[in-house]
Amino acid sequence: NLTQRLGKVVKTLRGQARLSEDNITDMLREVRMALLEADVALPVVKDFIAGVKEKAVGQEVIGSLTPGQALVGVVHRELTELMGGQSVGLNFATQPPAIMLMAGLQGAGKTTTTAKLGKWLKERQKKKVLTVSCDVYRPAAIEQLKTVAAQAGIDFFPSTGEQKPSAIAAAALDYAKKHYYDVLFVDTAGRLAIDAVMMAEIRELHAQLKPIETLFVVDAMLGQDAVNTAKAFADALPLTGVILTKLDGDSRGGAALSVRHVTGKPLKFAGVGEKLNGLEEFHPERMASRILGMGDILGLVEDAQRGIDQDKAKDFAKKMKSGKGFDLNDFKEQIGQMRKMGGVASLLDKLPAQFAQAAQQAGGAVEDKSIRRIEGIINSMTPTERSKPELIKASRKRRIATGAGVQVQEVNRLLNQFEQTQKMMKQFSKGGMAKMMRGMKG
Ligand code: GDP
Ligand code: MG
Repeated sequence: NLTQRLGKVVKTLRGQARLSEDNITDMLREVRMALLEADVALPVVKDFIAGVKEKAVGQEVIGSLTPGQALVGVVHRELTELMGGQSVGLNFATQPPAIMLMAGLQGAGKTTTTAKLGKWLKERQKKKVLTVSCDVYRPAAIEQLKTVAAQAGIDFFPSTGEQKPSAIAAAALDYAKKHYYDVLFVDTAGRLAIDAVMMAEIRELHAQLKPIETLFVVDAMLGQDAVNTAKAFADALPLTGVILTKLDGDSRGGAALSVRHVTGKPLKFAGVGEKLNGLEEFHPERMASRILGMGDILGLVEDAQRGIDQDKAKDFAKKMKSGKGFDLNDFKEQIGQMRKMGGVASLLDKLPAQFAQAAQQAGGAVEDKSIRRIEGIINSMTPTERSKPELIKASRKRRIATGAGVQVQEVNRLLNQFEQTQKMMKQFSKGGMAKMMRGMKG
């Protein structure tokens, strides 16, 4: 398991007081083994290790970071770069309908992903979505698209096994234009392995449709084979992106790391379940954090670089993980640091994705300008009140409100917010981490 292995390396790294040529080499050997075990292609591993080494040696160690932590930061940045750095969304810069051509081997997940992505675009971007199947070799495949499209709540243009793929595509496009669809998904036939007929067929469809997106769908469980197939398709067809499916399964995760490096094409989405909501946007940075199993730790590295108290932040992260002992003192600390770091938005960015989402839902998305008011209120409390907020009943609330120059309601609101945050942290410590990892199991 890549996450576990690298997690172990990360732990060792963090304990190192000093970085020398020697222990860098030792640690990088561990990272190298972890990557190879996860089925990352050898040339990719070599380039990666070389990159980390070059950046780590002679790296200036900042403030309260230990050199080991600094090296973790370098590894994380390099992992992120390896996966393309920025996340890349779908392109819609075209006259509608935006055509999405789905390519890939049989069983990769093209049909399922078509429905998932269609649902995603409909629900999140209010797109009017039409799907069509050009898989004329398997009548069941056309039926399957019809079924999943209905489940996804998107439209389906019928086709039959007697038609030619090019004729189906032309009819569907015509229909999509006449009915003002924003998006047309063209699902295609895959084979068990790359063959000339399939390649010729999809190239012909590509030439005919000139799709804005040509997405290669590939099963992450295939490991290096997934990457090799992606390379073969990318050489034959101008792909615009890759979608890795079945990342929820038993895959070793290596494909996610290599595919960009080998094909030069961005990973745009990841399939993480059989159900139609099992789809995630692919964010290289978040994926790197997941792989390293350290969403919160990275935030600390960055904070240290911005001059924030490392020990306090570490302490906070620990409490956050255990969900225990988080009180108003921490809340105040957290808020003060938020201010230093440039507001809530940037803090949420640094937390593991699942947690940040929960934080927003819990109403933790405090407006930056109200941060000072909240600080003012907490400042008017006694240390005992801060560590035991349950003591704060009506008369104390009035005293605190007067002290801070606010209404009692505002004190109530703050206490509610704190309670929500505390609850969320408990939840996070129970199931959040496991959930967070689900994209990188194996
Ligand atoms: P196609 O031949 O490329 O169209 O592949 P399908 O869409 O028919 O998918 C093949 C199988 O993979 C089906 O059983 C899907 O339910 C399954 N599948 C697709 N995507 C995922 C995924 O992200 N996770 C899991 N666990 N299964 C998936
Ligand atoms: Mg199919």
